[in-house]
Amino acid sequence: MIQQCVLCPKSCIIKPGQTGECLIRANIDGNLTALTYGYPCSVHVDPVEKKPLFHFHPGKSILSIATAGCNLHCKNCQNWEISQANPEDIKAYHLPPEKLPSVAKYYGCELIAYTYTEPLIFYEYTLDTSINAAKIGLKNVLVTAGYLNREPLRQLYRYISAANIDLKAFSEKFYRDNCGATLKPVLDGMILAKSMGVMVEITNLIIPALNDSEKEIKLLSKWIKENLGPETPLHFSRFSPHYRMKNLGVTPAETLEKARQTALSEGLYYVYTGNMLSKEGENTYCHKCSTILIERRGYRILKNKIAVTPSGTAVCPVCETEVYGEWI
Ligand code: SF4
Repeated sequence: MIQQCVLCPKSCIIKPGQTGECLIRANIDGNLTALTYGYPCSVHVDPVEKKPLFHFHPGKSILSIATAGCNLHCKNCQNWEISQANPEDIKAYHLPPEKLPSVAKYYGCELIAYTYTEPLIFYEYTLDTSINAAKIGLKNVLVTAGYLNREPLRQLYRYISAANIDLKAFSEKFYRDNCGATLKPVLDGMILAKSMGVMVEITNLIIPALNDSEKEIKLLSKWIKENLGPETPLHFSRFSPHYRMKNLGVTPAETLEKARQTALSEGLYYVYTGNMLSKEGENTYCHKCSTILIERRGYRILKNKIAVTPSGTAVCPVCETEVYGEWI
């Protein structure tokens, strides 16, 4: 029997024996099944800063997993060898949701990230693992493009502590032309995540000539401030040529610095630059008195001066302004 997948806005109609556009959701004898359930192709231990998450348990290690497949087809994908692959073409491990939390513990990780490709389309694997991990006190993290329908997102976010959500640009045209997706569901999903208590950070990869105009950076920053709050951390990340976008050059450092200044001027508290070393763009500053709270180089923390009040609130040690995030 033909089935329609209702997981993401693509709403694929899938004939028996075929898969949807993400290549991992298949119609097997009339039932929709995720082919990669329990079979991650990437399993690594990373610093949490690499996700990037700068306001969530700084300095901790995070077990990071991915399966093949993605519902987006970004021309600049860094992980296209696994995100755009058929699962049967990719080597995978057998790590069912019952086992993964103990693997995290074995490697000394209190955090698990569903990342690298698109964790929302290996949905059942992410959900079941998250439930098992939460039961033994581990924290779950999504690194995602955030392109999913509301109801499955709502179910999943109950078990997710933090998410870095890609905001690839602030135009429907960019999403359509470069990702094969649309912007609106991503924005709606971000609002949902924040409203459900997920600690949200946002990454915007700046690509020369495609999404780097001051006008677009202003609109994006304004939207974040008004809809998610000025405390929402924003990472501007440096593009380098990959996959089907080798015709463009690396993003100039000045473009990223300028974007950071623009977003700060629009009223965002915590704005970072990434994928390059920077004097100021990797540090966390108090948004009230400008004291350096965390000094970083790459993924390393050089100093962490955040103070914690007796009630457990993270604050600036100088002016005692609260710092957004989950720190202990
Ligand atoms: S999750 Fe995959 S199969 Fe389902 S609608 Fe999206 S692209 Fe299609």
